[in-house]
Amino acid sequence: MTERETAPPEINTGVPSVARVYDHFLGGKDNFAADREVVDEVIRAMPPGWRPSTSALDNRAFLRRAVRYLVRVAGVRQFLDIGSGLPTQGNVHQVAQAAHPDCRVVYVDNDPIVLVHARALLARDPGTTVITADIRRPTEILDNPVVRDFIDFQQPVGLLLVGILHHIHDHEDPGGIARRLVAGVPPGSYLAISHFRDPGPEHPEESELAARREQIFTERLGVGRWRTQEEIVSFFGDLELVEPGVVPLQEWRPDPGDLIEKHEIYHTFVGGVGRKR
Ligand code: SAM
Repeated sequence: MTERETAPPEINTGVPSVARVYDHFLGGKDNFAADREVVDEVIRAMPPGWRPSTSALDNRAFLRRAVRYLVRVAGVRQFLDIGSGLPTQGNVHQVAQAAHPDCRVVYVDNDPIVLVHARALLARDPGTTVITADIRRPTEILDNPVVRDFIDFQQPVGLLLVGILHHIHDHEDPGGIARRLVAGVPPGSYLAISHFRDPGPEHPEESELAARREQIFTERLGVGRWRTQEEIVSFFGDLELVEPGVVPLQEWRPDPGDLIEKHEIYHTFVGGVGRKR
């Protein structure tokens, strides 16, 4: 069978999607030729021997550590994971529920393929649900009846914007989107962000590699922004940043025994967590 026949009709397999390209970077199977071509193009633009999974795996590991921190240290029991992506190993609800069984997760993504795959996987888990919505309309997410039903807005919420804001154009105001989401959750809530970074003149070779990837993402996926440290920190607004702040993903509260591997693009992807006072 062709890919077109195996995919549900609402999925356009001929056009690459961020969720499916990321799935291929992670070594997943829920992607099509158009998605794999984007990854191949990135590989050609990178130094020989570069492993395409490095950043994606760093990002998933950051996500796992951030969720565990929020459950174990901060006492968060409910999560709004926006730009959740295709189900993969160590999904947010699995990580959170391993730390505390009462944890509940709403997965939000604007790509219909995420809904198709997530529904099949999550149908068995009463602590988890999934909706299709666009982060560029944050009020629609906060007011969504499924979200209102699932999340208790009197209790702290863990807002996860992991690997999504760099897919929002400057003119769509990613900082304003984050602020509006944070305004909708109670004090004591947390915001976790991971974001592509242009490390600037301090790491000129990595900055050049970031520019190459930005060009490919822009041409093939519409947007992919490697922003400055200042821009990314500003997305936390007046939240109190949890130590160590906004840092290369592997440096955010590594687990004991974790080895830091400073690969070719180590400084071009950062993450942080902030607390709403
Ligand atoms: N959060 C997961 C992680 O970090 O492993 C997945 C990140 S993946 C790189 C980005 C996800 O954001 C994709 O699944 C994509 O479909 C989703 N996305 C991109 N733009 C979006 C938008 N405007 N609204 C909602 N989701 C969006």
